[in-house]
Amino acid sequence: MKHQDYDIVVIGGGHAGCEAACVGARMGCSVALVSFKVDDLGIMSCNPAIGGLGKGHLVREIDAMDGVMGRVADRAAIQFRLLNRRKGPAVQGPRVQADRALYQSVMREEIESHPNLTFVEGEVTALIFEDGKKARGVILANGARITSDALILTTGTFLKGLIHIGDRKIIGGRMNAKASTRLADQIIDLGIELGRLKTGTPPRLRGSTIRWDVLARQDGDDDPEMFSFLHDRPFVQQISCAITHTNERTHDIIRDNLEKSAMYGGMIDGTGPRYCPSIEDKIVRFSEKSSHQIFLEPEGLSTDLVYPNGISTSLPEDVQQDYVHTIEGLERAEISQVGYAIEYDYVDPRCLTSGLMMRSMDGLYLAGQINGTTGYEEAAAQGLVAGLNAALQASGKSGVTFSRSESYIGVMIDDLTTKGVSEPYRMFTSRAEYRLSLRADNADQRLTPFGREIGCISDRRWAHFSQKRDAIDHCANVLKEKSISSARLSAAGFNIRSGGPAKSGYEALGLGSDLLPLLENIVPELDEHSSKTKLQVARDALYANYTVRQNREIQALKAGEGVLIPCDMDYAAINGLSTELLGKLLNVRPETVAQAGRIEGMTPAATVAILAAVRRQE
Ligand code: FAD
Repeated sequence: MKHQDYDIVVIGGGHAGCEAACVGARMGCSVALVSFKVDDLGIMSCNPAIGGLGKGHLVREIDAMDGVMGRVADRAAIQFRLLNRRKGPAVQGPRVQADRALYQSVMREEIESHPNLTFVEGEVTALIFEDGKKARGVILANGARITSDALILTTGTFLKGLIHIGDRKIIGGRMNAKASTRLADQIIDLGIELGRLKTGTPPRLRGSTIRWDVLARQDGDDDPEMFSFLHDRPFVQQISCAITHTNERTHDIIRDNLEKSAMYGGMIDGTGPRYCPSIEDKIVRFSEKSSHQIFLEPEGLSTDLVYPNGISTSLPEDVQQDYVHTIEGLERAEISQVGYAIEYDYVDPRCLTSGLMMRSMDGLYLAGQINGTTGYEEAAAQGLVAGLNAALQASGKSGVTFSRSESYIGVMIDDLTTKGVSEPYRMFTSRAEYRLSLRADNADQRLTPFGREIGCISDRRWAHFSQKRDAIDHCANVLKEKSISSARLSAAGFNIRSGGPAKSGYEALGLGSDLLPLLENIVPELDEHSSKTKLQVARDALYANYTVRQNREIQALKAGEGVLIPCDMDYAAINGLSTELLGKLLNVRPETVAQAGRIEGMTPAATVAILAAVRRQE
C-alpha cells in the first residue's frame, strides 16, 4: 500500500480545513489535505453567505493574516452589504452573498494551485499515534497511510452526523454526504470527551416559481466594501434579493404540527444554536409575534435555486410545503431540497490549548465545528490558528496565541478553550471587550505585522500593506501637526465653542465620524491623500482616545493578573459591578485577579475595579 510523508495532514476540506491547509503551506510546510471528495472544498452546508456582524470581523482578520476566505468570498460575491452602515465603524460588519458554486470552484482553484499543498481524496478512518500520544498520521479507508508531524482534524458536522426530517432519520454529515463514523469511534476509544449538538437548514426553493414582482427588493450597497484588503471592486455581476414574511396562517400550520418536528418531537438529543433558531423555535419562543422576516437570496448567477433565510426547519416535507405556500410570493414556490436538522458529535474545546492542540495528544489539532462552533467564518478562523500552530510545531518553533485585546480570533479561541460551549458557539461583537479598537476596518493594521513576523504573509501582501500603512501614517502625521483655532473649526461647522483651545486636525476628526468633509474644507494638505486613506485616518482618530485608555487598562491588568484576592473580599462595596457579576463573583470567589477576569461576562473595567479594590486593602 502507498505511503506518503508530509509535515502536516489536514482532515476535512471544509472551511476550517481549507484555511488550515493553506496557512500551513504558506508557512513553508508540506501539507496533505484529505477529504471525502474534491467537491467538498469550500462547500457551504447552509446559507450561501459569508460575514455579518462579528463574523465579518473574523473574515477580515483571516485576510489580514493572508488567509483565503476573504479573497474567495470577494471573487464569488453577488451582493455586498456593510451591516450597521449607519452605526459607528466598530460595529459595522461586512457581509457578502456568494454564488455557491463559484465559491466552491474558486476555493478549489486556491487549494489546487497552492505550492506545498496536495489534495488527497479519501476517507480517514483512523489516526496514527506514536507511543499512544504523539500524532503521527492517518489511515485511509483504502488502507493507504499518510504520515506527518502534525494532524489537524476539521470534520465539521460529520462525526456521527444524523439528519432529521420530521421522524425520518438519515445517517450523513450533511445532505447527500456520508457521516464519519469509524473516525468518531476511534475518537471515543481515545477517551476524548464528546458532546452532541444540532443545527438546521431551510428548504431550498426554485426561483422561477417565486412571485418576485410582489416582494420588496433588497439591493446591495452602491459603494461595496470588499472583504480582502487586496481588492477594491466586485469581480462578478451583482444581484438583488427580496424580502417576505411569515404570517398567522404560516404560524398556525407550524404550531399544529410541532410534535412532528424533529426538534420538538423529542427525536433530537443535541443542543441547537439559540441565536440561529429554526422557524419552529421562533414560533414557540416569540409566540407574541405574528410575523417573521425572510430574506430570499438567490444562490448564484447560473442557478434557479433560492435560499429562504429565516425558515430553517426539521418538519416533515409535506408540512414544509404547506407553510411555505402561505407566505406572500411563495404561494406556488416549488421546493427543490427539503429543509432538515442535523445532530453531530463535538469535542469539548476546553481540552485544547490556545493554539488548538489537544493537551493530551501532542501534535493533534482540532478546528471548526468539531470544537462546538457554528458558522463558516468561525471554522475558518480556527483553521488559521490550528494551521499556524501546527506549522510552527512542525518547524520546531514555539506556537503563537492570539490575544483577546488584539483580535476577535483571540476572543473566540479564549472563550472556547476556557469556558467551553453549552450550545453551538457563534461570534458576536458583544463577545469582545475591546470592540472599539477591534474593528473590521483596521484588522490589517492590527494583525498583518504580526503575521509577517511569524512568516505567513506573502511579499505581495506585505508590499501592499506597507504602502497603505505609510500613506495612513503620513496623513495622520500631517493632521497631528496641523493646529487649528477653535474659531476656525467652529466657522467650518464643527460643534465646538469658539474661544476654546486650538485642536490638531487629528483631534478635530476625533469629534465625530462624519467630520472629514468639514476638515477637508480647511486643511488643503488633505487633497494629496486618497479618499480611502483619509477615511481610515478618520476612523482611527475617532477611537484614538479610547485606544489610549484601553492600552492603559490592558497594561494595568497584565501587571495585576497574579495578584491574590483576599478570600473575604467585599465585592458589594466595589462600585460599578452589575448585580449579575456580583452574584457570579460571590459564587466563584476567585483566588486571583486573572481568575476573576475569566469569569463569563466579566469586563476589563470590572476587573480593573477589583484590582484597585485589592490594592486599596493591601
Ligand atoms: P464542514 O464544513 O462540515 O467540513 C467538514 C469536512 O470534513 C467535509 O468536507 C467532510 O467531507 C470532511 N470529512 C469529515 N469526516 C471526514 C473523514 N473521516 N475523512 C475525510 N474527510 C472527512 N452555520 C451557520 O453559521 N449558520 C447556519 O444556519 C448553519 N446551518 C447549518 C445547517 C446544516 C444542515 C449544516 C450541516 C451546517 C450548518 N451550519 C450553519 C454550519 C456550517 O456549515 C459549519 O459551521 C461550517 O461548515 C463548519 O466548517 P468546518 O470546516 O468545521 O466543517
